[in-house]
Amino acid sequence: MSLSDTFYDEQDFLSSQTPINLGVSACLMGEKVRYDGGHKKCDFLLDKLLPWVNITPFCPEVKAGLGIPRPAIRLAQIDSELRVVGTKDSQLDVTETLNRASDELCQQASGLTGFLFCAKSPSCGMERVKVYDEKGNPLVATRSGIFADKIRHQYPLLPCEENGRLNDDLLRNSFLTRLFCFARWQAMLREGLNAARLLEFHSRHKYLLLAHSQSHYREAGKSLANLKSQPIEVIAQHYLCILMAGLACVATRKKHTNVLMHLQGYFKNHLEKSDKTALTEMILRYQQGLLPLSSPIEILKHHLRHYPDDYLQIQYYFAPFPAQLNSSSVI
Ligand code: SF4
Repeated sequence: MSLSDTFYDEQDFLSSQTPINLGVSACLMGEKVRYDGGHKKCDFLLDKLLPWVNITPFCPEVKAGLGIPRPAIRLAQIDSELRVVGTKDSQLDVTETLNRASDELCQQASGLTGFLFCAKSPSCGMERVKVYDEKGNPLVATRSGIFADKIRHQYPLLPCEENGRLNDDLLRNSFLTRLFCFARWQAMLREGLNAARLLEFHSRHKYLLLAHSQSHYREAGKSLANLKSQPIEVIAQHYLCILMAGLACVATRKKHTNVLMHLQGYFKNHLEKSDKTALTEMILRYQQGLLPLSSPIEILKHHLRHYPDDYLQIQYYFAPFPAQLNSSSVI
């Protein structure tokens, strides 16, 4: 068995076998739907991610019939109520129209694998959207936009991110990890959920989850300890909640080092002393920030080719998402 046979086949993601249905704020696609007739084209989305995903664009403000161009709007706290009003003309109140349009679009979002929102928008901003008082002064508290808020409440486990945060290597990789993991989960459900498939899914994601959160790793294992205690659908849903919460935790160098040390242990009876020392040194240099994660990973994969291990070879830790999407400078 070779590594290319056992790591996931990237062709799966390029074909319809494991479709990734990504909802996006339409302006990120370069569509000229913004209030001023412009767009917010997201280069990473169009240049890198596009070949791997099926895109469904959403523009709640156009759906609400506000037109292009249209008056700019913002969130306002008026009489303890959240309203959406005109930035220049606070008498313009589109709260109900925008809520209705967002509710409708939310229904169309079922079946998505993830969502990429446009930051700062009173409709699509995922977080830290400014809220103003009646006189137009910004309040300290921020919140999510009307549409993004509804999506996240209706689909709490859906991997979501904002365009601006994709510039951060860690946040981008975190989003991609959750997105591709969720796509694999949806693929498993399509095949038919059963105990064997659920256990295999967990088995393949163990080290990936450990790299993000040791506590969620333990909790996930416990949640699958007795698969006869409840209906499998209930257990699977509980497991998925733990998994997605765990993957949302940042995988730091310290956590990755812990995983790499674990993985190194698999080769302790195979490697020459000098190779063992070289691997340990490389892991420590990675821990100190002197090398990217790809360095020890590539060496581990190299050893795995020489000393195959059925369990290690199927770990998504080695390739949580296609290498073409990876950032060279990521931790
Ligand atoms: S941020 Fe959302 S509402 Fe605003 S233009 Fe983009 S898609 Fe439309």
